[in-house]
Amino acid sequence: MAYRVTLIPGDGTGPELAAALETVIAASGVPVEWERHDAGAAVLERRGTPLPDEVVESVRATKVAIKGPITTPVGAGFRSVNVALRVALDLYACLRPARSLAGVPSRFAGIDLVVVRENTEDLYAGVEHQVTPDAAESIKIITRRATERVARFAFDYARAHGRRRVTAVHKANIMKLTDGLFLRVAGEVAADYPDIAFDDRIVDNLCQQLVMAPERFDVLLCPNLYGDIVSDLCAGLIGGPGVAPGANIGAECAVFEAVHGSGPDIAGRDIVNPTAFLLSGALMLEHLGEGAAAGRVYDAVAAVVADGRQVTRDLGGTAGTQEFARAVAARLSAAAVTP
Ligand code: NAD
Repeated sequence: MAYRVTLIPGDGTGPELAAALETVIAASGVPVEWERHDAGAAVLERRGTPLPDEVVESVRATKVAIKGPITTPVGAGFRSVNVALRVALDLYACLRPARSLAGVPSRFAGIDLVVVRENTEDLYAGVEHQVTPDAAESIKIITRRATERVARFAFDYARAHGRRRVTAVHKANIMKLTDGLFLRVAGEVAADYPDIAFDDRIVDNLCQQLVMAPERFDVLLCPNLYGDIVSDLCAGLIGGPGVAPGANIGAECAVFEAVHGSGPDIAGRDIVNPTAFLLSGALMLEHLGEGAAAGRVYDAVAAVVADGRQVTRDLGGTAGTQEFARAVAARLSAAAVTP
């Protein structure tokens, strides 16, 4: 029976990425029935909201979604659809693996890190107010409940994926109450996982060490804001956001998406690099229990990137997005007939 998956193409380069994904998943041999739903700026014009209820209802029903990037107005306008989805579906853990791919221009090689970011609170809770016209406050919220569940997610992930170490990232020397709580609860959870090493780093020191000796780290457990920044840093270590996949995971539902944004400057030109989105598709297959197919998709994307003849121009090639996807699909089809 086919898996039902909600597909939210998004805007900007999103629809091109969605088309590439459909090509590759079809070639993976995993039967997927897509429930397509639009969200974002174009929907806002038609429906008065960037995230109509039926989008959230679809994900609640299918429990699995993959979404393209969605443009978020800066400073004013609608609240980020990405944040709204995470909140509505309580997608409390953001997973961002950063693994070097041969063929991707980068200053570093051999990177293999996983960022697990708390997704629901911290300074992203949106509790801000204007104190006077010249002063504004944003309130940082850290709770035991949210920290404990994301810490358990990080340790469970580490255990399931043969990872050896979880490092908690914080600034507890300055924010003694909020980050102090995060660090303390992470340490308590660590005690339940004696097979996984646990340590911690102050976030500024971590950033320095990540660019000097990334091999010291394995799984990085971060509160929301540091996780946002550190995961972009890790995407930079592997050659930029165009190759970094991601997932937002809750107790019930999961939404997969690339780290990069909607690329308004390159939208509609068939030049967006689909690597990050296709690897997000591989994470989705793994989540569906199709680990072998997920591995095949990862390997096929990695092989096309390493080969370098059918990649997009950001990777030094001349291929369009859809040609890139067809090359990945061809590798998958060839792998299916070669025992
Ligand atoms: P961006 O990631 O869209 O683009 C940054 C630069 O990287 C651009 O030059 C773009 O052309 C390039 N780029 C990005 N992805 C690429 C890819 N796959 N292949 C080739 N080049 C790629 O970041 P931005 O310009 O800061 O944001 C644009 C919009 O996207 C904003 O409205 C932002 O809020 C939104 N955004 C959405 C998400 C999401 O939906 N999850 C994430 C980040 C940003």
